[in-house]
Amino acid sequence: MIIQAKKLDSGTIQCKYETNLECSNCGMNVDAEEYESGTCSDCGATWNGKQHTKIHVTSIPLAGKVS
Ligand SMILES: [Zn+2]
Repeated sequence: MIIQAKKLDSGTIQCKYETNLECSNCGMNVDAEEYESGTCSDCGATWNGKQHTKIHVTSIPLAGKVS
């Protein structure tokens, strides 16, 4: 996530928040494909552990485990 702050003439600090996701490992932006896969294509690491966990949980059906 990119946060830009600038000071207006009135003295107010205005912060700009961009919704771009960022790899927690290398800092590169996470694109839609990487978002879906949960893996950063730039460094090969999981770009966000929490998001990865969410995908992991929702993508595996309960009956899909074969022993
Ligand atoms: Zn990365």
